[in-house]
Amino acid sequence: MSDFNTLESADLSGKRILLRVDLNVPMENGKVSDATRIERILPTLREISEKGGKAILLAHFGRPKNGPDTANSLRPVAAVLAQHLGTPVAFAADSIGKVAQDAIAKMHNGDVLLLENTRFYKAEETNDPAHAAELAKLGDIFVNDAFSVAHRAHASTEGLANYLPSFAGRAMQQELDALTIALEKPEHPVMAVVGGAKVSSKLELLGNLVKKVDVLVIAGGMANTFLFAMGKDVGKSLCEKDLADTAREILRAATAANCEIMLPVDATVAREFKANAAHRHVDVDHVAADEMMLDIGPKTEALLKQKLKSIKTLVWNGPFGAFELTPFDHGTNQIARAAAELTAQGKLLSVAGGGDTVSALNQAGAADRFTYISTAGGAFLEWLEGKVLPGVEALRRK
Ligand code: AMP
Repeated sequence: MSDFNTLESADLSGKRILLRVDLNVPMENGKVSDATRIERILPTLREISEKGGKAILLAHFGRPKNGPDTANSLRPVAAVLAQHLGTPVAFAADSIGKVAQDAIAKMHNGDVLLLENTRFYKAEETNDPAHAAELAKLGDIFVNDAFSVAHRAHASTEGLANYLPSFAGRAMQQELDALTIALEKPEHPVMAVVGGAKVSSKLELLGNLVKKVDVLVIAGGMANTFLFAMGKDVGKSLCEKDLADTAREILRAATAANCEIMLPVDATVAREFKANAAHRHVDVDHVAADEMMLDIGPKTEALLKQKLKSIKTLVWNGPFGAFELTPFDHGTNQIARAAAELTAQGKLLSVAGGGDTVSALNQAGAADRFTYISTAGGAFLEWLEGKVLPGVEALRRK
């Protein structure tokens, strides 16, 4: 049984369901340019409608500063949602008060209504109990289907759970199941890949992972800081030299926790940070003073591929190199495809997430064969850091 209240145990028929969703979709020239977030909430919406519930959608959009503004209105998103859902979606120009109440009073069982941007009220983000109570008046049940905002204790993500019976929607449930199986109750050995630009943005994450995983692969620009801390000359590579002590502490913590650290043994180096720059492969001991390590090299690729074969669970955040520039995407592509292949063969459970990781794995053509890809940036990272996510805790079975 799931640790969380799910729609299985919710009585939806005839109920007003306040459904928190992520509709913070990217827009270009007034059009939704990527509908992934919309697609992910459709199963929950359809289930609520089929079971005769009234789905009242709560969502934020953009970063409104001082109350309502047209640029951050959710109104255009209602029409796009309706297209994807295949049924009408009504819109109310406020998320609390009479406008919202009147729109809800007109709903029939199975209807869908989107309320205006919750962040038009500051009290949403301060999680003001009075505001949460106002929101709660609009519904009988609270369903949260927005993992990507679960790291925020806002009125519509956490506060509401103090007033209404609360449940995880299907997208939230899928995310929690994937994350639990990957890091809380995984099959060992577990490998974590932590790549990306800087150590400074991922310190807590590394500290938590060394305690939880069997193998920690440190990659991308951040590996340079570790190599520097181990006394290597990293030339002109991206490197946070002031974090050398911290890097050494992480290495010591890993040894104490019996966590194997894998760092690059060779690199693809160049003198310019640009696509198709002249490059060569070199062992990490022989990087020239004017060279930058922009990707792992073939020896590291081979070692990682070999290691992956013995791994049962993989958690991945961050690219192996400057993947936006060919040929420095090679390492990321190779390891992503190897992991995808092992997953497709049923030998590996693979979970990846965090902004750039999703585009890197898409670019490698590997994302659709991973077990689960989290599109939640901040929430995914906080979960990797071992933090308690208020929006998730609110749904935990008591
Ligand atoms: P992050 O947002 O921390 O996951 O970092 C992703 C960024 O790190 C991407 O834009 C990559 O281009 C960059 N990156 C990865 N490896 C390197 C490297 N060796 N040198 C410079 N930038 C890198």
